[in-house]
Amino acid sequence: MADENALKESLAVSCRILGKLNMTKEPSGHVSARAPGGDNVFIKARGRGESGLRFVTARDFIPVDLNGKKLEGPAELDVPQEVYIHTAIYRARPEIQSVIHVHPLTVVLFTICDVPLLPLTGAYDPSALRLITEGVPTYPRSILISNEGLGKDLAGVLGSQRACLMRGHGITAAGSSVQDATLTAIKLNEIAEVNYRARLLGDPRPISDEDIKSFMPTHERMKASGAYVESAWRYYCNLLDEPVISPGSEKPGRG
Ligand SMILES: [Zn+2]
Repeated sequence: MADENALKESLAVSCRILGKLNMTKEPSGHVSARAPGGDNVFIKARGRGESGLRFVTARDFIPVDLNGKKLEGPAELDVPQEVYIHTAIYRARPEIQSVIHVHPLTVVLFTICDVPLLPLTGAYDPSALRLITEGVPTYPRSILISNEGLGKDLAGVLGSQRACLMRGHGITAAGSSVQDATLTAIKLNEIAEVNYRARLLGDPRPISDEDIKSFMPTHERMKASGAYVESAWRYYCNLLDEPVISPGSEKPGRG
């Protein structure tokens, strides 16, 4: 139970960070994580009693099974229609512990205009470069992912990647922890912001293959150590004056 509460606290902090960064509007979007020791999932609920992401607390999370069925919780909190985004990814990818679906406007503009996100920055932000060089596929439809079949299609487009774009809709990010998935979503939004502003200013030129390659050892180190996730998560928690919950341990403490 203590683990479950800590996990729900982590999920709530993730929602508040994404809300604070204006990565979604009103109550749109949801963050989920696998419940400890089982196949069930905690997901940010929708419904009459829902909170906007900026104001989410641990009470906003309800447990669902991998069919997307609500297991318990108050009547005013219900399963999001798009729970199938989450359940399909958890079914397809046992290593994934957390899934995020939000509607960040700048990213969505790129899907509307079919403009690719280019690797425009290197040392400015190696973690953003890593995400874009790994590849961010696009799910081509703009509908709600409101059944198992559509969830499967989306999970198929995501494949083994960490994030995908959804045309005229939003993004989905998947990670090894709530913190990992949250940072992937934030990075994707930042990549889109850089690309968008660069296109306003002129004709953006991707960095060279040689420079991209020079970051490969850095990317491997980042992947192996997890140190980046810890420090970046602490940064966003401190920015909001939120309690820091370390990735993996889910033990609350102050950063
Ligand atoms: Zn959506």
